[in-house]
Amino acid sequence: MSDQVSDRATPEPRYSSSDKKLLESGSFSDVIIKCENRTWNVHRAIICPRCPFFEKAFNGPFQESTTGELVLHDQVPGVVDEVIRYLYTGTASNKVDAHPLDLFKGADFFGVPSLAYIALKQIKSTLQEIAKKANYGHFIDVNNIMTPEEYEDFLLIVKAAFGSGSATYLPLRDPVLRFISLKKLTLANDEKFQGLLEELPILAVEMVKLLARPLTTFQDPKLCWHCKSRPVQAGRLWILELASRASVTYRKVGVCAECEEHGNAEG
Ligand SMILES: [Zn+2]
Repeated sequence: MSDQVSDRATPEPRYSSSDKKLLESGSFSDVIIKCENRTWNVHRAIICPRCPFFEKAFNGPFQESTTGELVLHDQVPGVVDEVIRYLYTGTASNKVDAHPLDLFKGADFFGVPSLAYIALKQIKSTLQEIAKKANYGHFIDVNNIMTPEEYEDFLLIVKAAFGSGSATYLPLRDPVLRFISLKKLTLANDEKFQGLLEELPILAVEMVKLLARPLTTFQDPKLCWHCKSRPVQAGRLWILELASRASVTYRKVGVCAECEEHGNAEG
């Protein structure tokens, strides 16, 4: 019956691989799931205890629990396939046939948080890779950082993270903001990103905070900006904007009492 490899396998992988065989063969299947043009022959005993959505659908007072057939609308077949596969094997595919953002939404919809977490990790590492690729300098053009496809993907992730008040999407905010903070000047210059800021007020507020961050992390100057010899008066600090054609940098500066009194502060 069993081959050499499974003889040597520890019990756990052997169980999950036999679960996988059950899914692939459809043997002993007692319910059917359909999404668009795809069909899965699955087992209540496996999917219901592992997934609150299927538990409700097949054990609740719904039509599905008597007909044994569930048709999923508004779902992507690639995501449904990944969720079902995960319920049987406990692992996600290396190459998911769905956008990680769709997988994240799907895993949340079906109530499988550990799969949502895997998708979230994928989204994070994608953003990290892009940021690494564009590590040096602040490119003015977003096309120097990402391919157009990567940028469209990124905008979708930003929209999901900030476009909804739903708690589901809150975990996306942190990785997205981390990425934005690395490339904020480039993004702030981009029309599409500016459009998103108009659409998403929470993102706009976060963006203001990110852009303001360098101003507040500078150390307070000790000596007067004008005479460069006397100490700065307490509370008499301001931000100096040094703009060139390529960039804007900021410095915190202050004046001493004497210089301010003699009207030299502006000089
Ligand atoms: Zn002075």
